[in-house]
Amino acid sequence: MGKRIHNFNAGPAALPLSVLEEMQSELLDFKGSGMSILEVSHRSKWFDDVINEAIERTRRLLGIGDAFDVLFVQGGASLQFCMIPMNLAMPDRPVDYINTGTWATKAIKEAQIQGKDVRVIASSEDRGFSYIPKEFSPNQDAAYLHFTSNNTIKGTQWARFPNAGEVPLVCDMSSDFMSRPFDVRPFGLIYAGAQKNIGPAGSVMVIIRKDMLARTPGKIPTMLKYTTFAEKNSMYNTPSCVVVYIVSLVLKWLEETIGGLEKMAGINQEKGAIIYDFIDGSSFYRGTADNDSRSLMNVTFRLPSEDLEKKFVADASKEGLGGLKGHRSVGGCRASIYNATGVGAVKALVAFMAEFERKQG
Ligand SMILES: *Cc1c(COP(=O)(O)O)cnc(C)c1O
Repeated sequence: MGKRIHNFNAGPAALPLSVLEEMQSELLDFKGSGMSILEVSHRSKWFDDVINEAIERTRRLLGIGDAFDVLFVQGGASLQFCMIPMNLAMPDRPVDYINTGTWATKAIKEAQIQGKDVRVIASSEDRGFSYIPKEFSPNQDAAYLHFTSNNTIKGTQWARFPNAGEVPLVCDMSSDFMSRPFDVRPFGLIYAGAQKNIGPAGSVMVIIRKDMLARTPGKIPTMLKYTTFAEKNSMYNTPSCVVVYIVSLVLKWLEETIGGLEKMAGINQEKGAIIYDFIDGSSFYRGTADNDSRSLMNVTFRLPSEDLEKKFVADASKEGLGGLKGHRSVGGCRASIYNATGVGAVKALVAFMAEFERKQG
C-alpha cells in the first residue's frame, strides 16, 4: 500500500481508514451477492438493506423518532438551496434567512430567484463573515428560518443554534453534521452534503419533519418534491447507491468504533483545542474568525504574507500534510478537521506549524 497522507481537505474530505478497508474487503463480492455494491440493482434486497441501515443508524445517532423522514437526494447541497423555498415556503408568509457566508448567500439567492418574500434577519457580512451574529430576534410569522450551522469557507460555527420559537428551523449542516449531538425537535428540515463529514460526494442527506411534507405544492417537478423521496424511500429514481453504502459504513464507524455523537464531540473538542491553543499562542499565525465563533471543523488562519502562505502549503504537502490551502475566494490557509481526521493528524499539523514558524518566523 502507498503512503497515506494526513488529509485536511474541505470536501470531498478524509474518510476513516477502517471504512476504506471495509469497502475494499467486500468490493468484489458484496455480502455473498457475487457482485460489487457498484453493480447490484437498487431494487435488490442487498441495496434495500444498505439504505435502511443508513437510515436506522441516522435515527439512532441523532435520537430521532418517527416524526422525521431521512432521505437521500442528489444534486448536492446546492440543489437544496432551491428545493427548500420551492417546497416549504407558504403563501403570505415570508421566509427568513441568516447570512453567515458564501453558502448562506447562495441559499438566499435561490429563494429570491423564485420570487419568495425573503427577509435576511441577521448577517455577519459587515466584517467579512468572520463571526456568528448574536443580536437578532427571529420573527414569529416566517414560514421557516434558514441558517448554516458551520461555515466551511469562513471557518465559523454556531455554538448554540438560534431559537425561533414555533417557526421551524431549516439548516444547512453540510460541514458539521454528525460532529456533535443536538436536539432535532426545533428543526423542520436539516440537510447535509455527504462529502464533508459522512461520506463521499454524490448525495445529500435530508432529514425532514413529516408535517413539513404537507407544504409541498402539487405543481412542481416530481424530482424536486420532498414527497417523491419520502414516499419511495429515496428510490423513485436510481439513488447514488455507492454513496449511500459508504455513508452507512461511516455511520457504523461512528456508532460502533467511536461510540456515538457525545464521544465524537469530545474528540472534536480536543482536536480544536490543540490547534486553536497553538494559534492563540503564536504571533506568526493569525486566526481569521472571532474566538467565540470559530469552527471545530474548518480552522482558517493567515500567515504574515501570501508568499509565506504559499510556501507553508507547499512545504506541508511535501511532509504529507495535504489540503491546507484556503478556499479560492478568501485565500489564506484552512485545515479541515472533520470527524475522520484524528487527533494524531492534528498533532502532526501543529508540530509542522511550530517547525515552520521556527524556520521562517
Ligand atoms: C460544500 C458545502 C455546500 C455545497 O455543497 P455541494 O454538494 O457542492 O452543492 C453547501 N453548504 C455548505 C455548508 C458546504 O460546506
